[in-house]
Amino acid sequence: MSTTEQRVAVVTGAARGIGAATAVRLAAEGRAVAVIDLDEAACKDTVEQITAAGGRAIAVGCDVSDEAQVEAAVARIAGELGAPTILVNNAGVLRDNLLFKMSASDWDTVMNVHLRGAFLMSKACQKHMVDAGFGRIVNLSSSSALGNRGQVNYSAAKAGLQGFTKTLAKELGKFGVTANSVAPGFIATEMTKATADRVGMGFDDFKAAAATQIPVARVGEPDDIANAIAFFTGEAAGFVSGQVLYVAGGPLD
Ligand code: NAP
Repeated sequence: MSTTEQRVAVVTGAARGIGAATAVRLAAEGRAVAVIDLDEAACKDTVEQITAAGGRAIAVGCDVSDEAQVEAAVARIAGELGAPTILVNNAGVLRDNLLFKMSASDWDTVMNVHLRGAFLMSKACQKHMVDAGFGRIVNLSSSSALGNRGQVNYSAAKAGLQGFTKTLAKELGKFGVTANSVAPGFIATEMTKATADRVGMGFDDFKAAAATQIPVARVGEPDDIANAIAFFTGEAAGFVSGQVLYVAGGPLD
């Protein structure tokens, strides 16, 4: 890469939460950023935060589980920003329930967004990475990959993403492409707020209760995860591949 070329990063589910913090962080690292979310208008705040700081970003509406939308989004990003060679598969949803109450539709929705979405996005972007001889893929797993009551769908998807990551690392390494997974513990976002709402707790009480179980005695913030992702997507991280990093304020059982 010449010193004047700017790498293009794609962050999915980046209208808010961990994805938004990651998009802003990667822009601060000098990347041009495609901010993808279901609703293009919802990406406006993230894009404005980047451009106000002097960065380059575009908002892209795309359902990552829809093949045609993914192909159109990646083609648009390549045309407007340049070849995407950094990909953060962050888009996610919860459809929690105990197994006996979980519908097949709730199972499919979670598999489609996390696993099919990461597959489609990685497939569409890898062409650009292989052509460039450089690529960085980061997949968002979760501490729930180790098993979590009420999340048989989500834990299966997040464990699946770890195997997906390791296989990408083996297939794409020879083209200069790394793949790693970041597995957050409890991070304060709309996702964990929705869980607090579902169990009938105020979010502050929910966070305080979670913090008592975390060795560093606080819950995580989106920037804690963006920081780990910035490392894996960095120019200097080319020999770090196929890894799963738990970012959870302490070790997990
Ligand atoms: P969040 O606040 O709920 O943000 C997720 C974003 O993804 C939302 O903007 C959502 O859009 C978008 N999205 C959902 N389905 C999509 C689709 N099909 N295509 C494109 N975008 C889609 O979640 P978060 O807490 O930041 O989590 C980000 C990632 O980290 C997820 O993969 C999550 O599973 C993982 N994670 C989070 C935690 C945590 O404690 N927060 C812990 C471990 C792992 P809508 O609002 O329109 O649905």
